Amino acid sequence: MAGGKLIVFSAPSGSGKTTIVRYLLEREELNLKFSVSATSRAARGEEKDGEDYYFIDLKNFKQHIKSGDFLEWEEVYRDNFYGTLKAEVERIWALGKNVIFDIDVVGGLRIKKKFPKKTLAVFVKPPSIDELKIRLKKRKTESEERINMRIAKASVELATAPQFDYIIKNDDLDTALLEAKQLVSNFIANNDLSEEE
Ligand code: 5GP
Repeated sequence: MAGGKLIVFSAPSGSGKTTIVRYLLEREELNLKFSVSATSRAARGEEKDGEDYYFIDLKNFKQHIKSGDFLEWEEVYRDNFYGTLKAEVERIWALGKNVIFDIDVVGGLRIKKKFPKKTLAVFVKPPSIDELKIRLKKRKTESEERINMRIAKASVELATAPQFDYIIKNDDLDTALLEAKQLVSNFIANNDLSEEE
């Protein structure tokens, strides 16, 4: 695989990373395209197949694992699989664009490990676990049980933050957006891809 750069944003769910990723996608000068992940979970609310995710059933997902079609995959929650298809990254590179990922911490770090030089791995840190809970409740898309599951996972995820290239603290959204834009812009401007696989 060869091509553009890889920008990974990982964070506990509810930390605001999706908002940051959307903002970056609108900055045309960054030449980014969103990597649409595959998932075995059902679509929520307004989510569209092929835009938010490629929604595929569990059997199909497992078949893709067997065939080695994923760059990385993860059973993020029990029976809810998520993964990045190699074909998705190749498709974006073929368009001459950089890829931006909104994925979980394990997947994010896996991509960084596979492409250490061309990946910028950013961790978005929520102000606190309590604040995270408030945000997830406000979203009103999931049951109490699901929210608690996400909170439990968030504590584990927070511990991985030091393994990322950068940590953005999302206490104030406007500041976080500017910081993210600057980081990505600098990384893309730096063309040192020597020694890259
Ligand atoms: P949600 O169900 O809220 O859309 O996503 C649940 C979690 O799965 C989030 O932390 C999200 O970042 C993560 N996720 C989404 N796509 C991928 C992927 O392709 N790979 C991995 N490892 N995690 C993903």
